[in-house]
Amino acid sequence: MRRAPLPVPLLRAPVAGVALLALFLLPATLLEAASVREKDAVCSFCAQPFQGLEIVAEDFAVGPPDPDLFVRPLNGAPREFFTVWTCPSCYYSALAVEFATPLTAEEKAAVAPQIKELKWLRPEGMAEKPESQIRIPGWFKHKAMYLCAKARGVPSFVLGNILLRGAWTARVTHDTMDRDPKLAQMYKEIAANFVARHAADLAPKPAAGNGAGVAPDSGAHDLVPEQGFAVYRLLLTHGRLVLKDLEKGEFTEEEKPVAWFMAGYFLREGGEHREAIGALSQVKSFAKTPARLQEMASSELYLQKVEQEFQEQALAHFAAALEKKEVEDLERTTACTYLIGELNRRLGNAAEAARNFDVVLQDARLTAGEAAKNRTLRAYLSWAKAQRALVAGK
Ligand SMILES: [Zn+2]
Repeated sequence: MRRAPLPVPLLRAPVAGVALLALFLLPATLLEAASVREKDAVCSFCAQPFQGLEIVAEDFAVGPPDPDLFVRPLNGAPREFFTVWTCPSCYYSALAVEFATPLTAEEKAAVAPQIKELKWLRPEGMAEKPESQIRIPGWFKHKAMYLCAKARGVPSFVLGNILLRGAWTARVTHDTMDRDPKLAQMYKEIAANFVARHAADLAPKPAAGNGAGVAPDSGAHDLVPEQGFAVYRLLLTHGRLVLKDLEKGEFTEEEKPVAWFMAGYFLREGGEHREAIGALSQVKSFAKTPARLQEMASSELYLQKVEQEFQEQALAHFAAALEKKEVEDLERTTACTYLIGELNRRLGNAAEAARNFDVVLQDARLTAGEAAKNRTLRAYLSWAKAQRALVAGK
């Protein structure tokens, strides 16, 4: 069974960089775009052979990041879907590179109780023994990797980074509309009209510079301060324009539930949990809401909850990393503090967010010239300023 990606001309045209992922599996086209191939692997825990996935082309083109450092690929699926593997037999999960070495007897003993639990966490729709890494949801891989890493006693800073990536994979995972051709057709028309109506607002703004990946093992960042959050802003613009159109009565009664779904979809991609939940909850309130659309709205709400849980846990681990002085260099402590601010903002804790952004903005070491020499630090400073403005007065 292969599901095609959501037929979204709306996304393909102005937001060409946004990955559309089918729930539970990636369509073949996205896989090809991501330049990955299968690779023989052996589980570090149970020693069973399986097929991993490796990225062939390292020149993965990426767009500007979201404010929580998620780097969106310009084509295909985010690299986080391929850099983590899950053993199809026991669900032991780790970074692909870690599978080169079996676990020590001590590590195995530490992970064993967790492995038993993983069986119970298998998501609905995932085969008991998935035939390919593609059939394992990205967010499940990260959840399993987090639990295994925690059992192995990995530091909080790394655990926070794994959870942050889990949130990213949940954010870009979506169910597809193609199982109801009538609904898919209606969506296409609504989207085409929407794009025509708002051509000027939706014109892509060229992004400066080139983004870079953030490796969860090293915690190293290579961020470009000049890069705005162009794609992220465009997603929010989409969501809010749909809401405006709903208010103005641009949609027929039949189209309204689809429009609420669209608004929820974009607001969720833009990380606005509260607004997205509001829009997605409206989908089912119409007498004629198609059953398939109701299912899709439920799946969006579920994935949003998954994302929020990842963010809540990531927040706690980044705070613990600072508390335990696991990270002491300026770049990593700044990263932790900035992320604590941004994750709090996303979770609706405005005061906590403001407090953490202020810590970054008032850090004498940053303002005294370190930032002038280091573009990653400059990026955190400019982003903290931008995000601080969003929570001002809230
Ligand atoms: Zn295994």
